[in-house]
Amino acid sequence: MLKCCPLCANSVRLLAIGGRDRIACTSCEFVHWDNPKPVTATLIPMDGGLVLVRRNVEPFVDDWCLPGGFIEARECPEEAAMREVLEETGLEVQVKSILGAHSPGRGINVIILFYLAEFVGGTMKPGDDASEVRVFKERDLPKNVCFDLHRKMIRKYFEGNGRAP
Ligand SMILES: [Zn+2]
Repeated sequence: MLKCCPLCANSVRLLAIGGRDRIACTSCEFVHWDNPKPVTATLIPMDGGLVLVRRNVEPFVDDWCLPGGFIEARECPEEAAMREVLEETGLEVQVKSILGAHSPGRGINVIILFYLAEFVGGTMKPGDDASEVRVFKERDLPKNVCFDLHRKMIRKYFEGNGRAP
C-alpha cells in the first residue's frame, strides 16, 4: 500500500477518479493507478511431456510450475517469455503462439500471459529461481504444481493430447 505521493511526498488518500475510488495525492495530480503487472508462463512440449521448474523462491518453494516471470521494463512480452525460460531452464525456445491472458483473481494483481513455445537449443539445467527442471508426462505430473492457472493450463494441454489448449 502506498504511504505517500512518490512525486511530492505529500499524503495520499482514496479519491473518486474516473468512476472508481483510487489512491491519489492530496496535493498534486498523482494517481496511483495500480494496474496489474503482466507475467509470463510458457508451455514447452518436449519428449511427449511439458517442461516444469521446481521453485527455490517464495511463494511455493519446492513446488513445480511453468517457467516464467515478470516482464522487465520496456521488454516485449514474447522476449520476456523466452528470456525467463532460458534463465530458469537453460533452454532456448521460440514462442509459437499465445494461449491466453488470465488474471488469477483473489486480489492478486497480475495478468498471466500463457505462451506455447518450441524448443530450439540449449541444455536443460536449473538456473535463477529454479532448483530443478525436468520434463513431466501427464501420468507422472507432480502433485505439488503451484498456481491454479498453471495447473489448469497444464491439464488443458494434456487433455488436448499435447495440442495447444
Ligand atoms: Zn503529490
